[in-house]
Amino acid sequence: MATCAHCGNEYDKTFEITREGESKTFDSFECAIAVMAPTCEHCNVRIIGHGVEGDGRVFCCAHCASEAGVSGISDRA
Ligand SMILES: [Zn+2]
Ligand SMILES: [Zn+2]
Repeated sequence: MATCAHCGNEYDKTFEITREGESKTFDSFECAIAVMAPTCEHCNVRIIGHGVEGDGRVFCCAHCASEAGVSGISDRA
């Protein structure tokens, strides 16, 4: 049994996600997204797809990036 890093639930089918050398254990994708997924700087949506980056900022889509004044970005899904 492992414990979810987000909600503290003990569950026998947890999984680990590793990013930049740091591993966290979750009981569901919902919890993993809540902790690991970046947030769009423009519309605050959780980015669970590829997202786009520009000027060191992260957005859910090229439209949000351009609305926020970051130009030269296209979706790279
Ligand atoms: Zn959880
Ligand atoms: Zn957005």
